[in-house]
Amino acid sequence: MTATAACWFRAAFTVLVMGALTLALAGCNAGPTVDAVVKTLGPNIFDAGASVEGRPIECHVLGEGPENIFIIASIHGDETAGTPLVRKLSHYLQMNPHRLRGKRVILLPAVNPDGMVNGTRANANGVDLNRNFPGPSRENSDSYGWVELSEPEAQAIASLAQLYWPSRIVAIHQPLACVDFDGPAEILADTLGHLSKLPVKRLGTRPGSMGGFFGEALGVPTITLELPRDVHRWNEARLWEIYGDAMVASVVFPESVDSVLVKHPPKRGAVFTSELKRPETGK
Ligand SMILES: [Zn+2]
Repeated sequence: MTATAACWFRAAFTVLVMGALTLALAGCNAGPTVDAVVKTLGPNIFDAGASVEGRPIECHVLGEGPENIFIIASIHGDETAGTPLVRKLSHYLQMNPHRLRGKRVILLPAVNPDGMVNGTRANANGVDLNRNFPGPSRENSDSYGWVELSEPEAQAIASLAQLYWPSRIVAIHQPLACVDFDGPAEILADTLGHLSKLPVKRLGTRPGSMGGFFGEALGVPTITLELPRDVHRWNEARLWEIYGDAMVASVVFPESVDSVLVKHPPKRGAVFTSELKRPETGK
C-alpha cells in the first residue's frame, strides 16, 4: 500500500469507527452528553456518569490546552492501586499548575466503582470494561458485552473522549509489572518504564480494549501501566514515592520531570531500550 493509500485508508477507517462509536452511544441509551451530566462537586471535579449500580464515576479535568491527556485507574475493579495514585496526581497538579501549561488532563481515578466495591474485575453486569470498546477484532459475548459500549462506565470514557479527543491515554492496571503500549507510544512507554523501573513489554492487543480501539484503530498513544501484584498493600505515600515520577511524566511528557521529582534521575546520555516479548495473559 502506498503512503497515500494508507493515509486514505486510515482516514476512512477513523470515520467508520467514530461513526460506530456515535451510533453505539446513540443506540444504547448513552443518555445526555458529558456537558449535561456534569454535576459540580468542586472546582473541575464532577461525575462523568453513573455505574450500573448507580455509583458516580468521578472525573477531574485540570488545565486547558491543545493536548488532552487521559489518566484512568481501576477499569478492572480488582486492580485498584491506581486509584490513590491518580487522586494524588490530581492533587499534585492542582498544587503545581505550571505543569499543566498547554495541557488539559482528564483524570478518572475510579472508573469501575461497582467492581471496586464488589471486588470484581468486571462491572456489575459481569462485563469486562476493557473489552467493551469498538474495534476491528471486537468479540460480542456476556463477558465483553453484546454490543460495543454497552456499559455505562465505558460510555462515560467514550463520551469524555468525544468531548476532549485524547492526545494520549495512560491506564493503570495490575499485576503484570510492566509498561505496555498501543499506537505510537513507544518513547513515552520507555520513559515511564525507566521512571517506574518496570520493563516495557508488548502484551498483545486485546479485542475490545481501550488499547485496541484508541491505540491501534485510532492512533492515539495509549499506555497500559501494569503495576506489580503486591502494590495493593501500599499506602498512597508509598505508591507516590515509587510511581509519582511516572505519573507526572505521563502529563508533562516529553518534558523531563527531573527538576521536580529527582528520585530516579536518568543517567546522562542514557539510552532507553524496549524489551519486546510475546503476548502474555491478563492485561
Ligand atoms: Zn487490568
